[in-house]
Amino acid sequence: MTGSLRFLFPALFLVVLTAAPVRAEAPKTVASIAPVHSLLAGVMEGVGSPMLLLKGGASPHSYALKPSDARALAKAQAVFWIGPGLEGFLVKPLAGLSAKTRIIELAKDYKDADPHIWLDPRIAGGIAGTMAKIMADIDPANAVRYRRNAEKLQARLKLLEIEVWKILAPVAVVPYLVFHDAYRYFEKRFDLASQGAVAIDSDRPPGARRISALRRKIAANNIACVFTEPGSKPALAGTLTEGTDARIGVLDPLGSGLAPGPKLYDTLMTEMARSMVACLGANG
Ligand SMILES: [Zn+2]
Repeated sequence: MTGSLRFLFPALFLVVLTAAPVRAEAPKTVASIAPVHSLLAGVMEGVGSPMLLLKGGASPHSYALKPSDARALAKAQAVFWIGPGLEGFLVKPLAGLSAKTRIIELAKDYKDADPHIWLDPRIAGGIAGTMAKIMADIDPANAVRYRRNAEKLQARLKLLEIEVWKILAPVAVVPYLVFHDAYRYFEKRFDLASQGAVAIDSDRPPGARRISALRRKIAANNIACVFTEPGSKPALAGTLTEGTDARIGVLDPLGSGLAPGPKLYDTLMTEMARSMVACLGANG
């Protein structure tokens, strides 16, 4: 009995030692949009929670900063955003922050006109890696945890990519239109048959001439679906598809209908794939 105790004691000691938390205050971080927040929340899991600027259905293309947002930005040690092509409203407030604040423009190395880079899970994996490095710089005591979290997240994203592939495979050749130019990275990664966007900017609806051109395109190219977005004007989709065989679907590239947190990103991606299949795969 004393023999087994002798073995047990150092083991217990070790458990207590490794579990002892070094509880410094978690670093204060801000993420602009829900998918970026989700990746950052995954990287920071077990240390702290980032603050999310754009909640609910708010559009990054037309958001106006609230005083509480400005206060959160002023206190932040790191701010993660996509870049001026998406969150134009952040350009000025970020320029006014203290030089000590780390500002990470995630789309900096992407030159495409479409700034919605997170819709490619491989890019999301890269973003997680960048986040872990920045967080380790700010908070070296938790560097290992950030790195492990990012590695776990990247492994999960690889599986997610395969899952989304499988969901989309049956409709990959079916032509469709989207409401705004947000899906190039998604379409390229999953090899989809997009025929373009109705409007370049989600907040600038197309004019009458563009609408009649689109109606001709829908008929000529056998467009199966026109995908709107949460908060966009459904009347426009009706005008576009009226008298054609095209159906109306909804895509939510920001996860505006989902609960923010580490799981949001995966759900956003699978939900988008399912919404596409629900519309493109329907027999009409
Ligand atoms: Zn957009």
